[in-house]
Amino acid sequence: MLFALGCLPRNARVTKPGTWGKVAALSFHRSKDFHMDIGFIGLGNMGQPMARRLVEAGHKLVVYDTRNDATAPLVALGAQVASSPQDVADRVETVMASLPSLQISEKVATGEGGVIHGKRVKRFIDLSTTGSRVAAKIAASLAKKNIVQIDSPVSGGVGGANKGTLAVMVSGPKSEVELVKEVLAVFGKVFVIGEKPGMAQTMKLANNFLSATAMAATSEAVAMGVKAGLDPAVMIDVINAGSGRTTASDGKFPQAILPRTFNYGFATALMLKDVRLCFEEAKNLNVPNSVMGAVLDQWETTNAEYGGDSDFTAIVKMIEKRAGVTVGKKS
Ligand code: NAD
Repeated sequence: MLFALGCLPRNARVTKPGTWGKVAALSFHRSKDFHMDIGFIGLGNMGQPMARRLVEAGHKLVVYDTRNDATAPLVALGAQVASSPQDVADRVETVMASLPSLQISEKVATGEGGVIHGKRVKRFIDLSTTGSRVAAKIAASLAKKNIVQIDSPVSGGVGGANKGTLAVMVSGPKSEVELVKEVLAVFGKVFVIGEKPGMAQTMKLANNFLSATAMAATSEAVAMGVKAGLDPAVMIDVINAGSGRTTASDGKFPQAILPRTFNYGFATALMLKDVRLCFEEAKNLNVPNSVMGAVLDQWETTNAEYGGDSDFTAIVKMIEKRAGVTVGKKS
């Protein structure tokens, strides 16, 4: 297995002493002690636990977030703080990012003070959901500076990020993906989707469209049952034992909707972003997208009425308001 300099296991040995800086790549058998210096930008709901897992796996982190309170928990674990994305990219060869919007991903990667201007960076691993168009655009800009873009959107929510059980979708040049696959495995199960920039993003959009659809559809189905006099908790138990089971019925409803906590950990604006991207991606590919359009309407209404910062489980409140019912555990 070949390792580029700068991402060597700490116990790696250079075969010819004194060749540091001259040798482009070394032979090394991977071991449990494989450690890298990694930059991590964006320490929100997902970035925070993912960065923590990297530190716990023994990697050395340089972190950056526009919020100081987001970097503090990582500093307590030994991470260094950088002053900008460029500063991160000045210090390490491998930079990861988990950011909330396409505009912010682009700005952090290729804007003024962005990763593209860093002195050491060789690869930019975007863990955010950006859609394939933006991923390809960032990849093309970075390529001009010999920086490789690796798309690595994830699925499985904050719970999966904490436990390291995410689905990690990766696309990028084969040799680069090989190099970082083991590091990404700290987040969960790694699926190599392809080499073209954006392929992993298309995969992620297909997945999130299904997740968004399950939330919208389950909200309507349960509200209908409640209005007809059914107990929503019994409905969810039946659905989970039957053929209607989805991640909405076996995760979101029991955890955050029936108890009325509405705190699943994913913002409405982010779900709207994903569904909109998926709708546009299908349209650009001339694929029928009428279900996507109907689901997109539901998320646009939820976003308009409850705000982008609301937890995405707020979609139930939007349906409840129109149905004149409350979907909660009967006391
Ligand atoms: P979040 O809003 O909780 O976190 C984003 C972080 O980025 C925040 O800490 C924010 O301060 C920081 N940030 C904003 N602008 C910045 C900038 N210019 N420079 C540096 N940091 C900046 O979002 P999240 O829920 O963690 O989601 C991050 C990405 O992961 C999104 O693309 C989302 O679609 C995707 N995602 C989220 C989930 C989930 O369940 N939350 C699941 C899978 C994928």
